Amino acid sequence: AIDVRGLHKSFGSNEVLKGIDFHVDNGQVVCVIGPSGSGKSTLLRCVNRLEEADQGQILVEGIDVCDPETDLDAVRSRIGMVFQQFNLFPHMSVLRNLTVAQEKVRKRSRKEAVEVARANLEKVGLAGREDAYPAHLSGGQQQRVAIARALSMDPDMMLFDEPTSALDPELVGDVLEVMKTLASEGMTMMVVTHEMGFAREVGDKLVFMDGGVIVEEGDPHTVLATPQHERTQAFLSKVL
Ligand code: ATP
Ligand code: MG
Repeated sequence: AIDVRGLHKSFGSNEVLKGIDFHVDNGQVVCVIGPSGSGKSTLLRCVNRLEEADQGQILVEGIDVCDPETDLDAVRSRIGMVFQQFNLFPHMSVLRNLTVAQEKVRKRSRKEAVEVARANLEKVGLAGREDAYPAHLSGGQQQRVAIARALSMDPDMMLFDEPTSALDPELVGDVLEVMKTLASEGMTMMVVTHEMGFAREVGDKLVFMDGGVIVEEGDPHTVLATPQHERTQAFLSKVL
């Protein structure tokens, strides 16, 4: 589970998160929407401390992420992260992309790492592409490799930051399908997305952020059909 309380974050004089309270239960899929610059990525990045929070508390499985005593590697190894820009290692084959952190961080043998990698490639529909290099794959395939790489670390939860925003429209479906499967298997997920169909179908909760605060949250069907707040209405009228 993820528990965020009173989270504040500024970059210089720019206060980007202005007191965020937020909860994700185990097995829940929480989708986060909101205009550009509203702080969605910053929120996600604070959860695994790619950014340092200024104030507030972030508990991941009860462990305080912001506590300087906390073993960051231990926290991060529980959290898989998938970015808009895939972030694969370009000079490594697909297989090596999936095994390197398993060996270095998880201390698995090469043999075990390869077995785990193969199983996860199969899961994302890319069995047989072990030897390809990222540049030779489509964006959708690269993103599915990135998901398989995150899964190979056996995370307790997955954070997705606009995983389909950089993809050609015809490649979006395959990636969403993989995420849907993960959700149905009970993975805890926090997903920043513009895919309202996904949010409606797969999300247990929809959070609308604007200007560094959570303006509205609730059941996705309800929020999308009958947004209560005027800012939510204005945003949805532009994207739906
Ligand atoms: P988008 O939909 O465009 O991805 P977002 O909701 O993810 O937007 P953030 O990326 O969290 O928004 O950015 C929120 C604000 O924080 C923006 O004004 C951005 O310029 C600023 N910001 C983000 N990261 C940094 C950084 N490392 N240094 C300085 N300012 C930053
Ligand atoms: Mg962002």
